[in-house]
Parts: sequence; C-alpha cells; structure tokens
Amino acid sequence: MLRAKLTEKGQLQFTLPKDERARLGLVPGDLVELAVNQETSEIEYRKVIHEKNCPFCEGTRTFYNEGDCFICENGKIVSDASVWDIISHNRFGKYKVGMTVTTQFTDTEYPTFKLQSKNYSYEALWYAEDIFLLLYIVYYAPKSVLAPQYYQQPSTVLLEDFASLFKTELGKKRLRQFFSENSVFPKA
Ligand SMILES: [Zn+2]
Repeated sequence: MLRAKLTEKGQLQFTLPKDERARLGLVPGDLVELAVNQETSEIEYRKVIHEKNCPFCEGTRTFYNEGDCFICENGKIVSDASVWDIISHNRFGKYKVGMTVTTQFTDTEYPTFKLQSKNYSYEALWYAEDIFLLLYIVYYAPKSVLAPQYYQQPSTVLLEDFASLFKTELGKKRLRQFFSENSVFPKA
C-alpha cells in the first residue's frame, strides 16, 4: 500500500518504489495519471505520453503514397522526441531501410541523413532525408525567449540557405511552412 502525504497546497506526495518506476519507464519530470479500477477498486497509475502526428506520414501511416510508414506504428510519435529518439525507435529493420548519418561536418553545419531501401523510391527516401534534416533543424535551432520574433521568422536569406540543403520540393515547402506557420513558439 502507498501512503501519501498532503501538502499545504493540497498536493498529495508519495514515493513510487524504484521497481515500479522502472516498470512504468518513469523518469523525473514525467506526468503520471491515476485512476481507480472500477472492478478491483485499486488505484492504478500510468505514464502520460503526449503524442503528435508522425512528421513523416503526417499521421496517415502511409509514407509518400508508397507503403507503410517506416517510422511510426500508428501515425503518432512522442511529442518531444528528438531526431535521435526517432532514429533509435525506428522500424527500419522491418521495412528493410538502411540509414547512414554523417556527422562529420564539412560545408554545412548539419549532419547528412542517407537512406537506402528497395521498398521505396529514391524520391520518397530523399523526402524522408529532408524530414530528418528538418527535425534536426527544428530541434537544435536556437530558441530565443527574449526575442522570439527573430526566431519565428528567420530572414529570407537564412531560410533560403536552409532550403538549399533540402533535396525535394516538398521538403523545402515543409521547411518554409514550419517557420512561417508552426513556429517553435506557441501562438499567444
Ligand atoms: Zn509515420
């Protein structure tokens, strides 16, 4: 049985045993949901996972109209996943997609994502490479809280500089869209 201590602010505090935390995959900062099981009357808890549409298939589960999305399982990914999280939770093996990431920077300060597969066209794979690059830029771009407007709308020159790194028109379009519409800063 778990005992909870009530704080002055009305918060309940209790310690979740270490093996329980491990079982639920909880790390500090995670949000936990509590619910009473109607049949057993026991309190159950689970990790709250925020998800968003998979940026590769945009939630459709079909990638580039060519087949199953080789990134997500149900059209969703974890909201705050970095590009590296996405790479490490991929389903490349199942769809026989090979990936190389070159992090030895030369002309650009960006890694190069290379995909190979006989199951998808070159164009589809180039688009996937573009999305990886977009996720990288979005994740690592400096976020200025003091002057978000500078971040929200990079200069046309800078944006075109970024776009030149992308291989497909669709990828370039996604990049411009991201910075013009879905800024990193939530709309006030
Ligand atoms: Zn997907």
